[in-house]
Amino acid sequence: MNEQKRPVIIAGNWKMNKTRAEAEALAKAICQAAEGQRDLPAVVLAPPFTSLPAVVSVCSGSQVKVGAQNMDHRDAGAYTGEVAPPMLVDLGISYVIIGHSERRQYFGESNATVNLKLKAALQHHLIPIVCVGETLDERENGLTDAVVSRQTAAALADLERSQLDTLIIAYEPVWAIGTGKVCEAFEANRVCKLIRVTIANLYKDKELAQSVPVLYGGSVKASNIDEQLACSDIDGSLVGGASLNANEFISLIKSGQKRISLQAAESCS
Ligand code: PEP
Repeated sequence: MNEQKRPVIIAGNWKMNKTRAEAEALAKAICQAAEGQRDLPAVVLAPPFTSLPAVVSVCSGSQVKVGAQNMDHRDAGAYTGEVAPPMLVDLGISYVIIGHSERRQYFGESNATVNLKLKAALQHHLIPIVCVGETLDERENGLTDAVVSRQTAAALADLERSQLDTLIIAYEPVWAIGTGKVCEAFEANRVCKLIRVTIANLYKDKELAQSVPVLYGGSVKASNIDEQLACSDIDGSLVGGASLNANEFISLIKSGQKRISLQAAESCS
């Protein structure tokens, strides 16, 4: 279990799902479940752009935060179809997912664009959740560690240590996303630790690396989350499919809560 007092984070990526009314209903159910709860993990909902204002309105005054699934790195201009960081800030968004594997796979995002977006997010005080992870082919060819370290280092290129206070990284093996094939908790923990080692080596700073929350994502559900959250280097979950159902997502939040309560009990004993 995380002994570094890093926050526990449960984030739901709704991808291209939910109309505005459906998004409002789902957000309402989650906010109601979170109301008055102690030891709540940081709960982040990332609906599609079209539902962001509605979900921000539902979540305002609650403990639940809202994130975008993507953004452009530029502030404004002739970039048809894109959404700029100041527009998200203007809506009251606090988090942004950057470099999700579906963005890399279907929309040509590269390590270089991930780096630009991360810099833009930090500049606009949006909390970035940067996704890294290997494909099945890369895993089968023994390239997992090289790919994950390279993606992590490239995302952080030219960033100063002092800029990384709010950074969150999500280890999302591409072969585990939306497939029902979950990465074994032991292996997911090993790769999350490798991400911290990469950060420690880049900045020659173990303390910094220990302070960065690293989430696991890939077919997380109520039946497997506890095993993941029991691992020392996994600080929470980035959840796709299971975040679309209120009851399922609320059980994930409860698992996060259980971990925080256990941690508190351990630190008292
Ligand atoms: C994701 O899209 O980030 C994800 C982890 O999806 P799923 O939980 O459906 O595998």
